[in-house]
Amino acid sequence: MTTVSIREVGPRDGLQNEDPVATEAKIRLLDALSRTGVGRIEAVSFVHPKAIPQMADADEVWAAAWRNPDVRYSALIPNSRGAQRALAAGFREIEVVVSASDTHNRRNLNRSTDESLDDIAQLIPLVHEAGATLEVIVATSFGCPFEGDIDPDRVAGIVARVRADGADRIAFGDTTGMATPRRVRDLLTAVRPDLLHFHNTRGTGLANILTALDLGVTEFDASVGGLGGCPYAPGASGNVATEEVVHMLHDMGIDTGIDLDALLEAAVLAERLVGRPLPSGVLRAGPRTRLV
Ligand code: ZN
Repeated sequence: MTTVSIREVGPRDGLQNEDPVATEAKIRLLDALSRTGVGRIEAVSFVHPKAIPQMADADEVWAAAWRNPDVRYSALIPNSRGAQRALAAGFREIEVVVSASDTHNRRNLNRSTDESLDDIAQLIPLVHEAGATLEVIVATSFGCPFEGDIDPDRVAGIVARVRADGADRIAFGDTTGMATPRRVRDLLTAVRPDLLHFHNTRGTGLANILTALDLGVTEFDASVGGLGGCPYAPGASGNVATEEVVHMLHDMGIDTGIDLDALLEAAVLAERLVGRPLPSGVLRAGPRTRLV
């Protein structure tokens, strides 16, 4: 049986792009997700509270959350200060973002892509000395809202550089939902990541996942309920919903280790905590096995 590894990113990527919720609510969501059977959770990010107030309580959330020994938890960091905070908090899987698009990188991180790559080269030994691993997420890999199409060769160049610098893992982010199956095929033919992060902004999330699966990628990010939005398209949906991915894969005989009922309970909780309907078809309609 084929298996797919899903990393649940609702508590970080999801909540970071929603109106702020209470610390206690974040802990409840993390705990609910830790009980679903999911193998990996992106728990928090250690960013400056002025830049991202939604994550100002990351230390508090992480200190109080239940840590299931069967789950690998990761944290996102923007720089070495964030890495130090994540390492001090006990994280051993750390993620950092760089944009394939120079314009997006400047808007997001206030420096060029090359400058970010220099920072990452400095960061890798720091993370390794602490016994942790660093994953580099290449944002806007499938297109940029400012620059348009991104040449797969540019993404491949970034991957070659960070791998040479010692990055442990590579992920491609479809930051604003510009990927389509054709573009997934084009990029993955040029260069292969360890993990893919798709958004469902334009309804192609599941199709992109199936295309990537066909090409041999078996690790994907997804967000419970489809938590999170698109920072450049107000009101648009963002991350692909975890329960939609799990629902489809299980029916195909592909195992994820996740209990769909427990995941749907977490999605109901997520929807209540953010106080808006979440864009998940399986959350709305229930699984196809639920008869009326
Ligand atoms: Zn995302």
